[in-house]
Amino acid sequence: MTPLPPGSTIGILGGGQLGRMLAAAAARLGFDVAVLDPEPDCPASRVCARHLLADYDDPAALEALAGVCSVVTVEFENVPASALEILLAHGAPVAPGPRALSTAQDRVEEKTFLNAAGAPTVDFRPASTEQEAADAAAALGGRVLIKTRRDGYDGKGQAWAASAQDAAGVFRSLGSRPVIVEAPAAFRRELSIIAARSWDGAMAAFPLAENRHQDGILRRSSAPARVEPARAREAEDISRKVLAALDYVGVIGIELFELQDGGLLVNEIAPRVHNSGHWTQDGTTVDQFEQHIRAIAGWPLGAVDARARVEMENLLGEDVLQWPAIVAEPNARLHLYGKREARAGRKMGHVNRVFPLKV
Ligand code: AMP
Repeated sequence: MTPLPPGSTIGILGGGQLGRMLAAAAARLGFDVAVLDPEPDCPASRVCARHLLADYDDPAALEALAGVCSVVTVEFENVPASALEILLAHGAPVAPGPRALSTAQDRVEEKTFLNAAGAPTVDFRPASTEQEAADAAAALGGRVLIKTRRDGYDGKGQAWAASAQDAAGVFRSLGSRPVIVEAPAAFRRELSIIAARSWDGAMAAFPLAENRHQDGILRRSSAPARVEPARAREAEDISRKVLAALDYVGVIGIELFELQDGGLLVNEIAPRVHNSGHWTQDGTTVDQFEQHIRAIAGWPLGAVDARARVEMENLLGEDVLQWPAIVAEPNARLHLYGKREARAGRKMGHVNRVFPLKV
C-alpha cells in the first residue's frame, strides 16, 4: 500500500478510550479521524474531526464512513465482522480484516486457530449442553474454567467449576449458552506482548509487559517485564506466527501465561491496541497507538525499544478522583478518557509512572 499522505481521513469503528487514544495519535501525524459509535458523547468523539452517530451494523452509516475514509480500523473486537465486509464492499480498505475479528470473537475458534498456527494454549473442549460441559470437565481432569464462547470481557461470562459434577450448574449459571471448557493454567505470571504487522508483512514487537488483574480486570502492567531472553524470543516468535497466520495489519495484543516451568501459553488475542500496551505511551520511542496508525496507513513501523521502565495503573471508577495528587507526582503521566460518569469498575483513565531503564 502506498503510504497515506497526512490530511487523509482514517475511520475507527468504536469511540471508547482506545478509539480516543488512536485518534490523538492519528491527529499528531496529520490525519483526520472519523469515528462511528452509537454513543453521542463517546470519549473519541470529542477529539475527532467527525463522529457518525450510528450502530455498527448500520449500512448507510458504514457506506458514508467508507466514502470519507482512506482506511478503516476498529477499537474493539466485538464489532460485527459483517460491518467490515460492508466497508470492503464500498471500497474502503479495513485493517485488521474481518477474519481476525471473527477469530477473536469466538473463544473456541480463537484457540483452534492458535493451535493450528503453532501457538500453544491450555487444553479445551467446546460444549453446548449441560452434559457436554460435564463430559468436557471430566475429560480435562475435573476442575475447569468455563467461559461463554462469545461476548466475554474483563472476566465477565466465565466461572470455575470445581469438578465435573459442578460443570452443569456452572453451564446454567452462564446462561446455558455455547461455552468453552478450559483446563486450568498453572501460571506463575501473566504477561502480554503487543506486536504490529504492516501491509507489506514487516513485523515489530514491543517488550513484554507483566500484568496483574483483580476481579478479572487489568489493574497494573509493569514493563519491560523481567524475563529471560529466551522467553522474550519465544513470545516474539508466537506473535510472528499469529500475525502471519491471520495476514494481519495493525497492532495486536496477545495475552500469555508464563507457566511454573517457564513455558508460555496464549490465553487470548485482542485484534486491536491493548490496555497492557498503554505503558508504551511513556516508555517507547513510538507507542502502540502511533504504531497502529503507522501500520494501517502504510507507513514504516516505528522503533519499539524501551526508553524507560513504566508502571501502568488503571484508574477504575472513583480512582479517577485522585487526579490532583497524581499530577503532582514528579514521575507520573496521567491519561484520562473524558468519561462523564465514574461508575464502579469503569476504566476512567490510567497513570504511567516512569522510571529510568536499568541496564
Ligand atoms: P480471559 O477473559 O480469557 O482473558 O480471562 C480473564 C482472566 O482469567 C485471565 O487474565 C486469567 O487471570 C484467568 N484465566 C483465564 N483462563 C484461565 C485458565 N485456563 N486457567 C487459569 N486462569 C485463567
